[in-house]
Amino acid sequence: MDWFSVFFSLAVFGACGWLLGRYKERPLAGAVLGVLLGPIGWLILLLGPRGTTPCPYCGATLTLWQARCGACGASMTWIRGKPLGPRRSE
Ligand SMILES: [Zn+2]
Repeated sequence: MDWFSVFFSLAVFGACGWLLGRYKERPLAGAVLGVLLGPIGWLILLLGPRGTTPCPYCGATLTLWQARCGACGASMTWIRGKPLGPRRSE
């Protein structure tokens, strides 16, 4: 296997990872995982959380791991890539 083939495979893995990442709204993470891990990186990406998710309080778009909602100001607790919904305080 020459250097061109190595580079070409990495580019293909990265491009596919980027495309998958776009679907999960995390294109950069997808490209990096694709180049570093190849098909395993794609799998990690597909099984992982989406890059954006609606705010459980107001429905505005949140970026993954964002600490506070920009629209309603609610602070977020993230559990396994999902924001925790309104807490019952009765
Ligand atoms: Zn909100």
